[in-house]
Amino acid sequence: MGKFRFLILFGVFSNDSIAQNAILGDPLEPVPSKVTGVIDGQPPSDAIILFDGSNMDSWEHVRSGEPSMWAIKDGVLTVNNGTGTLVSKQSFSDIQMHIEWRPNSEIVGSGQSRGNSGIFMQSLFEIQMLDSWNNPTYVNGQAGSVYHQYPPLVNASNPPGEWQTYDLVFKAPRYTRKGQLEKPAFITLFHNGVLVLDHVEVLGSTFSKVPEYRAICEPYEIAEIRDCSGDLPLLLQDHGQVVSFRNIWLREL
Ligand code: MG
Repeated sequence: MGKFRFLILFGVFSNDSIAQNAILGDPLEPVPSKVTGVIDGQPPSDAIILFDGSNMDSWEHVRSGEPSMWAIKDGVLTVNNGTGTLVSKQSFSDIQMHIEWRPNSEIVGSGQSRGNSGIFMQSLFEIQMLDSWNNPTYVNGQAGSVYHQYPPLVNASNPPGEWQTYDLVFKAPRYTRKGQLEKPAFITLFHNGVLVLDHVEVLGSTFSKVPEYRAICEPYEIAEIRDCSGDLPLLLQDHGQVVSFRNIWLREL
């Protein structure tokens, strides 16, 4: 009899789902809200659309606040070299983001001067875009890197002239009321569907002399002292090369 009871107990506790229910119960709330996922390339139903091919209503020139001078043709946005980096009109904290980008098919330059752009989380932390198809450079500066901090796990680049996707999760840093860093930022990135950054801990803002966190700071290219402890806009970089974009959306987390 004793042996029989042992077998029953072992059976119960070796079953993961039953054991989990015993710990968590069967909660009825919070009920996850309904969201339609990506269908035929269309964004999720709760996404904020930052570029759908039709206009630049969500972006402006970073320093002047003037309208973007980048080109839109056939639903594709292309850097108009030298006209300046763009800033989103809206500010964000934690996000899931999707952006499609394409280095020019004509190869001009090499290393960091070939198909360079980038998307800056909170105007502070650059996720690098670069034509990294047979284009050696320092590894934490190639496509899929947190610029000058983390190389991608693999090089998932497509050839120049082909569209590429970034799907990312950004968790913003948190500060105490006194402006002390409480929790750093984290980034997870899929490049063309391949995991290249696996919840990496961002070391600080990209273009300070050394990566650092400051609750009061001067974001890259914004050139103004800001409260950097809350929501901040995104930047889309004009690095002087021809890079195109389409289908930019995000979800606030
Ligand atoms: Mg860049």
